[in-house]
Amino acid sequence: MRIDIVTCLPRLLDSPFGDSILKRAQQKDLVSVCVNDLRQYSTDKHQRLDDYAYGGGAGMVMLMEPILNCFRTLQSEREYDEIIYMSPDGEQFSQSMANELSLKKNLLILCGHYKGVDERIREHFITREISIGDYVLSGGELAAAVVSDAIIRLLPGVLSDETSALTDSYQDDLVAPPVYTRPAEFEGMKVPDVLLSGNEAKIEEWRFEQSVERTKKRRPGLIS
Ligand code: SAH
Repeated sequence: MRIDIVTCLPRLLDSPFGDSILKRAQQKDLVSVCVNDLRQYSTDKHQRLDDYAYGGGAGMVMLMEPILNCFRTLQSEREYDEIIYMSPDGEQFSQSMANELSLKKNLLILCGHYKGVDERIREHFITREISIGDYVLSGGELAAAVVSDAIIRLLPGVLSDETSALTDSYQDDLVAPPVYTRPAEFEGMKVPDVLLSGNEAKIEEWRFEQSVERTKKRRPGLIS
């Protein structure tokens, strides 16, 4: 899989993709993440990426031209399954969307800034708009990193334990059960006995019950 992220602030993405699981996934060639700097696609001598909004009002709007120059260059090299715009009014991101997107080959993600991008980009060139929640960030980079992280950890071979992603919350419309590690007792706080019993069937059963209980309490909407 390849993920191209288009941004006017590429450095914001150095850290999320430069560490831990996402870094290893790229080193193992399981995914390639390319951060494309919009400034390199500006033909303006001051490399402007934004301008005042028609009709007035506060805030700048991202120019069409550098975005299209960038899209067209990338699209001349490969076909994209989706051209995504990160936007607070987009489709709400979810685990099922992450599952679906993890099956794609090439994704292009545009990060907005300031007031957002010229609406004509959204109307004519974007195939999907995704929000990571009903709040407003100052730019799409962190949102793009969130979406990419959720997708990449689902790719085969990325997590060392093959079943690990499958036992996480939301994969089966349940949240995950509680987990514990050593010591078995710490300052009087004990790990549930069943987890120390060695009885796999019982442990499985307990985990499932805990998941159902937690889901009812924390995400009742998931259980119909
Ligand atoms: N004026 C816009 C907000 C712009 S915020 C509005 O009111 O809807 C600047 C950029 O941050 C957006 O273009 C988008 O790319 C990104 N962004 C902000 N909040 C986001 C969210 N919840 N999900 C995804 N992207 C978001």
